[in-house]
Amino acid sequence: MILMLLGAPGAGKGTQAVKLAEILKIPHISTGDIFRANIKNRTELGQLAASYINNGLLVPDEVTVAIVEDRLSQPDCVDGAILDGFPRTIPQAEKLDAFLESIGKKLDVVVNIVVDDQAVIERISQRRVCPNCKATYHLGHRPPKNGVNCDACGHEVVLRDDDTPEVIAKRLKEYHSSTEPLVDYYKEKGNLIESIGVDGIQESLDNTIRALIMRNA
Ligand code: ADP
Ligand code: ZN
Repeated sequence: MILMLLGAPGAGKGTQAVKLAEILKIPHISTGDIFRANIKNRTELGQLAASYINNGLLVPDEVTVAIVEDRLSQPDCVDGAILDGFPRTIPQAEKLDAFLESIGKKLDVVVNIVVDDQAVIERISQRRVCPNCKATYHLGHRPPKNGVNCDACGHEVVLRDDDTPEVIAKRLKEYHSSTEPLVDYYKEKGNLIESIGVDGIQESLDNTIRALIMRNA
């Protein structure tokens, strides 16, 4: 099953994707994580990606699509994947549809996580991430146990370079102009869209997954 999580930056796509990947036993593909790993390893792709990411802009479609197609072609994706943060533009979505068709798959379900801008700003400014194992925390309602170090691996948690107020504002603008149109794109195409709010997100997603498993059984 190919499942995609759509939503503004900081909506909680990553957190939910990790849980879903575990439940559904399929890989979690996060374009943001792939870019950050490349930035950390100082690859050419990382250098290119950083110039966009740190300015709150989207990485160009050609680059992003090629990375995802390559990732989806790996053997661990035979039974599907959870797409987190991709597609983020209409051209990316069109390319993904064509690619999936070429490998005999389709995007089975799109889950749209709805959160307003003010909440995004609050959540992202409180977000801390572990640069070592990628665990994420919220200083308010999900802080690391000792306030400073990752519960999972002990590394110090940090504010992401693109989680500053200035860059957050630009990312929100990009989201509204480039990514939000995907909600209508998928509605029109008839991909199942479950629009769920961030309050009670866990329960809504659990219900969605249950329904999906029943449908695919
Ligand atoms: P968030 O959902 O909090 O914005 P991500 O880790 O998904 O975080 O993305 C971080 C950044 O990586 C984005 O702001 C963007 O610059 C880049 N990025 C991630 N996915 C894509 C994509 N599908 N297309 C273009 N750029 C992307
Ligand atoms: Zn960690």
